[in-house]
Amino acid sequence: MRSATLSRRMNRIKASAIREILKVTERPDILSFAGGLPAPEAFPIAELARAHAETFDREGAAALQYSTTEGFAPLRAWIAERMRKRGLAATPEQVLITTGSQQGIDLVAKVLLDPGDVVVVESPSYLAALQVFEGYEAGFATVGSDEHGMRVDQLERVLRRSKPKLVYLVPTFQNPKGTTLALERREQLARLAAEHGVPVLEDDPYGELRFSGAELPPVAALERRAPIIYLSTFSKTLAPGLRIGWAVGAAETVRALTVAKQAADLHTSSIAQRAVARMLESFDYPAHVSRIRALYGERRDAMLDALAREFPVGATWTRPEGGLFLWVCLPGGVDAAQLLPQALREHVAFVPGAPFFARAPDRSCLRLNFSNQPPELIAEGIRRLAAALARIRQADVAAEPVARSVLPQTA
Ligand code: PMP
Repeated sequence: MRSATLSRRMNRIKASAIREILKVTERPDILSFAGGLPAPEAFPIAELARAHAETFDREGAAALQYSTTEGFAPLRAWIAERMRKRGLAATPEQVLITTGSQQGIDLVAKVLLDPGDVVVVESPSYLAALQVFEGYEAGFATVGSDEHGMRVDQLERVLRRSKPKLVYLVPTFQNPKGTTLALERREQLARLAAEHGVPVLEDDPYGELRFSGAELPPVAALERRAPIIYLSTFSKTLAPGLRIGWAVGAAETVRALTVAKQAADLHTSSIAQRAVARMLESFDYPAHVSRIRALYGERRDAMLDALAREFPVGATWTRPEGGLFLWVCLPGGVDAAQLLPQALREHVAFVPGAPFFARAPDRSCLRLNFSNQPPELIAEGIRRLAAALARIRQADVAAEPVARSVLPQTA
């Protein structure tokens, strides 16, 4: 078949670097820290299977019929209640079920951005959000980050200079760095959003997964006058294959998102929504989340211990209090993209950091996922990575940079 002529827009959307790397890193002989995969042993498979069977049994016709764009009412009510417990007061009508929080990012961009509008993002930021904004022909203004998240003290200047239409951030256990926005910065961000009337997209897929430190309120909970849209998902607490996420916002914003979703996919899978709602009637969700926290906390510790043991002086890394990732920066001007082919020879993989930057990439950093391997394999993988790094630093390897097109795309 002849290929179709693509839109100008498609020139702007870069193939996700990570999806491509994952093709290599998913080889069974590779110990991968590259993907953003939750631990499959934490999926409540039996409970989900039972809930699906009961759904077919008792409400099969309704579950297989078209349904409302807003989502299944009992599930929206459960989510509103859970959000309330996490500090964000919202009515069920303010909850829109989305096909993963990734769709939430897309819908928000669709309803808020015109071509040429500016989006403020953290540096580095979640790669697949950058892709969405590029697809809507937005430009970027970047704000740096440190171990306490976005440098909100730099934001006011950027708001004045760039007049953005949206500020996008992952305040809690960020992807890729694993860092968390400090409380004072959350308050300052919410205040700035209210004062400037600039919408903030708070993307929070990891907020439930805290294994140390004190809980922090969502930014959206801090300032009622701020136009904040909050996103979350069952991808990291139940299973990503369900493709159930949600957006919470002001009633009028949710209405606009609902219209945009109608055009995108009519509604999220009715079967999946009803089965999850049914399961949650009897499932001990808080206990389940506690088990995931314990599992990932142990894995984070295994990775931090291995890094301290194996990595050379001068390397630095973040110490996440939750989530799936940490961020390592290499000493001595080593380019993480050059380390990757050497690491693959050692049968270990990661994602080089450069694609996570909307502009001015720091090439010395890389993202490591710790949720998807048991502690003993984490120790072994970090040992191999340190060996690959030592080899690169001895400069006796003709290391070739890996082209963007062969790098992996990840969740
Ligand atoms: N936002 C961030 C920051 C993510 O890391 C991810 C998953 N990798 C998503 C959104 C999308 O998740 P989902 O669509 O599975 O809910």
